[in-house]
Amino acid sequence: MQSVKIILCVLTGVAVYSLMPRIPAQKPDQKPPPPTTRKRVVIAASTVLDGRGRVLHDVRIVIEGSKIVAVETKADSRTGPADYDLRALTVLPGWIDAHVHIAWSFGKDGKNGSGGWTPEEAAYQTASNAWVTLMAGFTTVQSVGNTADVPLRDAIAQGKLPGPRILTAVEPLMGRGEQTGTPEEIRAFVRKQKAAGADLIKIFAAGGPSRPAMTLSQEQLNAACDEAKKQGLRTLVHAYKVAVRAATQAGCTEIEHGVLATDDDLKLMAAKGAFLDPQAGLVWENYLLNKEKFVGTPGYPTSLEGFAGMEKLIPMYHEFIQRALRIPGLKIVFGTDALAGSHGRNAEEFIDRVRDCGVDPMTAMVSANSLGAEALGLSNQIGAIAPGLQADIIALEGDPLKDITAVRRVVFVMKGGVVYKNLARGAIPAYAGVRP
Ligand SMILES: [Zn+2]
Repeated sequence: MQSVKIILCVLTGVAVYSLMPRIPAQKPDQKPPPPTTRKRVVIAASTVLDGRGRVLHDVRIVIEGSKIVAVETKADSRTGPADYDLRALTVLPGWIDAHVHIAWSFGKDGKNGSGGWTPEEAAYQTASNAWVTLMAGFTTVQSVGNTADVPLRDAIAQGKLPGPRILTAVEPLMGRGEQTGTPEEIRAFVRKQKAAGADLIKIFAAGGPSRPAMTLSQEQLNAACDEAKKQGLRTLVHAYKVAVRAATQAGCTEIEHGVLATDDDLKLMAAKGAFLDPQAGLVWENYLLNKEKFVGTPGYPTSLEGFAGMEKLIPMYHEFIQRALRIPGLKIVFGTDALAGSHGRNAEEFIDRVRDCGVDPMTAMVSANSLGAEALGLSNQIGAIAPGLQADIIALEGDPLKDITAVRRVVFVMKGGVVYKNLARGAIPAYAGVRP
């Protein structure tokens, strides 16, 4: 039997992206307007999921500039007419995806990678990935990572391109046993990523679910996560089986995938406050949907038959999430591993988690709101509808607590007080292929 050799999302260093034009930094004289001149915007809502697990009814969300300044109930409302009437919808904070590969696309040759694209075409494709992700209701993503993320992150932050707020790992640390380097060399690699603009460090500490052996020693992992901590950066570790415990013991911040970890490993994670980011389905559904595009590309099965083995792995992921849910205090965040073919479909992972793993719908929403913000160290900025936080606000047709497929129907997107999408009054979308 042919063994399936899958290493999730191992493609890195897509060299062509490094040729992307550099976007110059904002000039120091381009300051935002003072608060007094910022426009005041009022949203009326009948149902608000506040991102922290509460449901608010009949409120007005008051926004000035990029921030929410008040969430008023009907009784204390002193605001005039609403600028946006979202009362027929469910309103919630913009979602946070803790694990995407925003720069990964299918090439002109139709294959995974960037085969055939000119650097300019590749840059526009990456910008498109950011646009469809924002349109799907994701106002913040963590890209784990690629050098192409940096100019995209900065262009979006400067308001030059529409897209989600991006945090990036720049180049990940690929575990290659002793070849990875000495602890000192690994520490230098971490510092190099910080100097290149990394918001976090991504580490590959194991193979894939079929070959989960560790690719970094405990000593190497200790060095990577300790140096990141010293540099004020979080660590996301691709880990399966025993690598989960090793990364937790090393004091790393978040475990990606995690399958084959024991209950004891998960209990240790809970005790140490490490976040778990498992995947319930989108990444696999996408591989199977697009197997002709992935087959034979680096890290993926060399024949279409090889994808049958991949399909058999899906129940193992479901069982893992079900088990993880039973570990008291374990913080499970929302991350899709969105890559070529799945940008803009990130919300499918909510459906997989709720439908296939029994995750409570409110827990699923919070995992991509306040808990996701906590995992990113941004609780004081995003992840909830509350005064003082960024005005990242989305609205859905339908109620995801009753019908989780409502997450596919994002009709309103505001990020940092700017409205990027508003189909709330039945407007016709100006773009194709975004709404499923
Ligand atoms: Zn990944």
